[in-house]
Amino acid sequence: MMLMIDLQTLFIMTISVHFVIAISMLIYWKTQKTYPGFGYWAMSNVVAATLYVLTAARPILPVFVSIIVGNIAAILAIMIRYEGVRAFTGQTVATKKRNIVSLLSIFIILVYFTYVDDNPLMRLFFLTIWLIYYGGCIAIGILKGGTISHKLTPWIISISHVFCGIVLVFRNIVWFLDPSARNALQPVFINIMLAFTEHIMDVIVAMAFLMLNSQRLAQELFESQKELEDLATTDPLTGISNRLKLNELGNNEMIRSRRLNHPFSVIVFDIDHFKEVNDTCGHPIGDKLLVELTQKIKAEIRDIDFFGRLGGDEFVLLFPETSIQKCHAVAERLRQVTNDVALQFEDIKVHVSISLGIAEMTLEDSTIEDLLKRADENLYKAKHSGRNITFGKDDSLELLSKISKEKLEN
Ligand code: GH3
Ligand code: MG
Repeated sequence: MMLMIDLQTLFIMTISVHFVIAISMLIYWKTQKTYPGFGYWAMSNVVAATLYVLTAARPILPVFVSIIVGNIAAILAIMIRYEGVRAFTGQTVATKKRNIVSLLSIFIILVYFTYVDDNPLMRLFFLTIWLIYYGGCIAIGILKGGTISHKLTPWIISISHVFCGIVLVFRNIVWFLDPSARNALQPVFINIMLAFTEHIMDVIVAMAFLMLNSQRLAQELFESQKELEDLATTDPLTGISNRLKLNELGNNEMIRSRRLNHPFSVIVFDIDHFKEVNDTCGHPIGDKLLVELTQKIKAEIRDIDFFGRLGGDEFVLLFPETSIQKCHAVAERLRQVTNDVALQFEDIKVHVSISLGIAEMTLEDSTIEDLLKRADENLYKAKHSGRNITFGKDDSLELLSKISKEKLEN
């Protein structure tokens, strides 16, 4: 059975669908958050909808409107769409002049092959060159935008344009060979195929543009959420974790270490007489010293260790898989390293030392705060024992053996 398709009806359907898409995109553009380029895509659909009206009404329109204006509208629609792609993918080189020259050239060519030498095949030939050029630019350009993390949508747009270009070339070959097919409304296979392809492709591409916009929005939201999270968990001066993050990391690590029955130790340290540094050299030098010290210590610890600033000149280090003996050895190394940190201020070299309190997790610690509290008490003792020392190894060993003894007795 032969499928009978009335192309005029199909065109009326195409026109109504295009107007719905154009109006939806215009409303979306004006009411939602959109990115550069989306406005061009909305406008391109308005021009495309108008173009289909001109195509359908061709038999009753004057030649200038149906041929010249109609074909220019086809070029304009795809040109504006390409401008949208350029803007969306961040290509900023100005193309205004190039576009005007391009439109003027095709206008002159169309006028020549209409009024001087009425040659529909030549008109078609040049029109196809222009359409394929811009279609190709879109197909390549849309894949260049590195700002969209998943590429499926750009590929859908790209493939749609390539496919449409192939059908267009094929249609022109048929028109060239078969004069009876040379009317877009003539219901022969290739005309129906092109009308369907353009119709479906325009709907797919409009949907894909909407998707691209919302994907970028989702991506931006995800990034700003991550930025906010970083801001809330990072110390702005040194870039290391703040108290909030340390508590979270510490509690997680405690749970993990307890489950595996592995050791977990911490260091709390504070710079000695830091107020004096601020008083003699000024706050900016004090800040610089804090940053320098942070860098130095970061370079000394393993990837699995956590380093954070509790506030002021007080810092914390969390050492998974580390007994109190090993923690003490690291603390002593860090103390030595800190003694090497020096900043030139005018003609004096600013040196600092740190006092450290250490502790190892026991069965009695229920949260990281319990563990840090014991390390902090040891830091207090270190300060009162003359500063620039590490305190807490013997305390912790004593506590650990006391707890294991109690455990054995029970
Ligand atoms: P101690 O040996 O007892 O620790 O003496 P200290 O002078 O270091 O006293 P303390 O730790 O109690 O005071 C910390 C000082 O660190 C207070 C403040 O002037 C300084 N400070 C806190 N936050 C900052 C900061 O972000 N930048 C700078 N430059 N200084 C800070
Ligand atoms: Mg201090």
